[in-house]
Amino acid sequence: MDMPLLAVSDDRGNIFEIPHLCMAGVALAEQRLPVKDDLIPLPHGSNLFMLPGRLPTGYDPETRRFVSIDNYQGEKINAVAAFMAPAYVQFLLPAYTSTPSAPRLPLYCYTAVGWYKGKFYVPAARIDADTRQDLRLFDEKKIERGAQNMLHRYPRNRLVGHLVEKCVRCYGCPAARNFVMERWECPVPTSPACNAGCVGCISLQPRQSNVVSSQERIDFTPTVAEIIEFTVPHLEQAPRAVISFGQGCEGEPLLEGELIAESIKQIRSRTKKGIINLNTNGSRPETLKSLFEAGLDSIRVSLNSAQDKYYNAYYNPRDYKFDDVVQSLTLARDFNRWSSLNYLIFPGFTDHKTEMAALHTLINKVKPNMIQTRNLNIDPEWYTQELKLAELAPDFIGMRNWLDSMRTAFPWIKFGYFNPPREEMKKEHFGFTS
Ligand code: SF4
Repeated sequence: MDMPLLAVSDDRGNIFEIPHLCMAGVALAEQRLPVKDDLIPLPHGSNLFMLPGRLPTGYDPETRRFVSIDNYQGEKINAVAAFMAPAYVQFLLPAYTSTPSAPRLPLYCYTAVGWYKGKFYVPAARIDADTRQDLRLFDEKKIERGAQNMLHRYPRNRLVGHLVEKCVRCYGCPAARNFVMERWECPVPTSPACNAGCVGCISLQPRQSNVVSSQERIDFTPTVAEIIEFTVPHLEQAPRAVISFGQGCEGEPLLEGELIAESIKQIRSRTKKGIINLNTNGSRPETLKSLFEAGLDSIRVSLNSAQDKYYNAYYNPRDYKFDDVVQSLTLARDFNRWSSLNYLIFPGFTDHKTEMAALHTLINKVKPNMIQTRNLNIDPEWYTQELKLAELAPDFIGMRNWLDSMRTAFPWIKFGYFNPPREEMKKEHFGFTS
């Protein structure tokens, strides 16, 4: 067969192909051969992961069956997955059989990967042409010079200190790195607390989850003065400027509504330039209203599902309901502000007919301008268990078909990955109002 071969890893992390097996993928719990046209070379800036305790599964073209193998030429082997660079959407999860000793996988996204004529291939597509997080645009020396420059420029600003010391230097956060390079989207974390308990929260994990959060939450609340000191110059001077409250290193920014409202007012009294954005769980419509009144330009609301049953199973909301999230999105419409869904993708579930029907209903109700597709960072088996997805019939259409059908059904919606600058908030994305 003219297909990529199954990629596997030995225990030392050496990755190689199995010559008699084709790569396979998984959607929901179904093993699948990737569609050839859906395969692209592994994007620059992606990583490959060995999946410990998981036997790689490939497709045997002779027997026409999927098979799991535990060794190659007598050496023990493990499954392999790709962690794709930002701006790409995954179509298939990796195929493997977990052994009883398989540890829970850390909070990254796992995509099927194979080897073909000297290159790794993944079933995926680039969803956003914006290059703001492309690894080739990050020069480590310039970033460090920019980091030192920011510390020198704002010596007493704790928030700038956090962005430089933790986000740039520890986490390698692309948004924070762009801030010190004085370009594009600048992160503004404010909230140490959250009112949700997402299963795959990257900033706080209970010990019993057996995974660690990939970032620590900010441990102080910045002042208005600290916020405006660096965000106003960013909005004034950076190309395609956006500042975004609501980051991976914090909780829920709506819990700091008064602080953010006052900051927005003071920023807007100093500059009209750029976009002030809020990444949020959308839990507090009343607070959000005060932010729109203060001058908030756009929101990005995260959700893994348009069905409250699955939303609740993942978000574990503490003091709000899915209806509040819907109301927040509706508010954006009422204020005629830009709204994006930050829609967490899970092949087989996202494109499941029941989920698609619910998403259509939600979109028709709240009319978002954009859908940002985010590959969910979680162990696929953990997610499947928590949401009880095994109970679902395999009634899904495939992620490529999902994308095509969504574009056809909602022609005004911009599909992408990043919060857009003002230049990209085009009239046609508000087309539903005409
Ligand atoms: S809303 Fe964000 S900060 Fe809160 S639990 Fe979920 S991922 Fe974590």
